Amino acid sequence: MKAEIIAVGSELLSPDRLDTNSLFLTEKLNEAGFRVHLKTIVGDRKEDIARVVAAALERSDLIMIIGGLGPTDDDLTRPAVAGVLGRRLRTDPDVVAVIRMRFAARGVVMPRINERQAQVIDGAQVLSNPFGTAPAMWIEEKGVKIALLPGPPRELQAIYLQSVQPRVEACAEGKRLTRRSLHVVGMTESEVDSLAAPVYRRYRNVETTILASSAQIFLHLNEWVSRGEEPAQAIELASRLEQVLGDAVYSTSGESLEAVVGAMLRGSGRSLSVAESCTAGMLAARITRVPGSSDYFLGGVLCYSNIVKRELCGVPAALLDSHGAVSAEVAEALAGGVRRACKSSLGLSITGVAGPGGGTVEKPVGLVYIGLADERMSWSDRRVIPGDRESVRERAATYALAHLRRYLLDESRGAPGTRAEDPRATLPETPQ
Ligand code: AMP
Ligand code: MG
Repeated sequence: MKAEIIAVGSELLSPDRLDTNSLFLTEKLNEAGFRVHLKTIVGDRKEDIARVVAAALERSDLIMIIGGLGPTDDDLTRPAVAGVLGRRLRTDPDVVAVIRMRFAARGVVMPRINERQAQVIDGAQVLSNPFGTAPAMWIEEKGVKIALLPGPPRELQAIYLQSVQPRVEACAEGKRLTRRSLHVVGMTESEVDSLAAPVYRRYRNVETTILASSAQIFLHLNEWVSRGEEPAQAIELASRLEQVLGDAVYSTSGESLEAVVGAMLRGSGRSLSVAESCTAGMLAARITRVPGSSDYFLGGVLCYSNIVKRELCGVPAALLDSHGAVSAEVAEALAGGVRRACKSSLGLSITGVAGPGGGTVEKPVGLVYIGLADERMSWSDRRVIPGDRESVRERAATYALAHLRRYLLDESRGAPGTRAEDPRATLPETPQ
């Protein structure tokens, strides 16, 4: 069945704002069995909105109209849709009462203009908004289903999941799109593709895409299946791909690298602290994005300057003088130092030249050392990361997580003995 999305808002036609709601809706609609065959962005002009909606009624089974439900003069979705359908707009006293209560709960008297948000199109089902004042609407017109949804993503997503999804699923027929993904770290996109392509090319019914982002590779496997059916081909393909890619695959259920590493830390009963120079908190931010990270993450030091490296992470001044702040020796000393300072089982560090200035022949922009220390020793990993300042910093944080994952994998396989003799040998270089 065919769905189309209409995003209303002049700001979405400017360079300042991107229509992200349609990405969320497309995923959900595909899962329910709708193909999104058209997306339109239209400014806040009533005639333009009406024209797009009138055309949509001719060509789609389901129309999702986003935005333009606010209380101000430029919020015109309600009257535009009412006009196209030839239905009246009336103020619903129950909705007014709900909006008034929302304001009262914040100790504010409802401004008069917000009454406009209680205008309901005749025959529409009103869907309440748990996070805002504008309710959504569900309308059926000659077999076509129309949803009017508020623009703020948090509100749209909550209303969709609570009230729109069950209605969409009730009218969906035909195949639904299932999505599986494999997340890979420690290989380049071309390495992944050269191993994966001979496998996925044999699965004609699975649409496979490869995407590289922040030193990780994401393989997406999409398959359209009938209702109640499992995506048998995609499941088989995912397990074949896992075989060829080995433990470079860190997730098959959509978890982030930081969530996977976090679960490994929790499982091993170890705690972690970090010392970050060029990333200045990005690694800690990623680790703590995972709910429950306080179970294993103790904290860290943002050691941007040499003073902080010395004073808070205990890096000897002589080491900084002889090797420089961006060096294997300092990365290891930082990891060991932060581990001692925070009394954690493991210390993880990043020191590098993020650029754009500051590079030399021996230490070019993008040179990053990752250090890791446990109770027995510390070691490091060297990378030269291409790209601008932000990508160097982002990828450095990914490499640190990948480095820690590799250590925890080796530990769980009982490899620490070999690592103690030659630690670097068991920590293979992760290519960029
Ligand atoms: P509106 O419901 O038109 O008043 O939209 C309120 C706010 O929601 C806008 O200022 C945008 O920041 C956001 N918004 C509206 N439409 C979209 C969209 N399609 N994608 C992402 N954000 C949106
Ligand atoms: Mg708007």
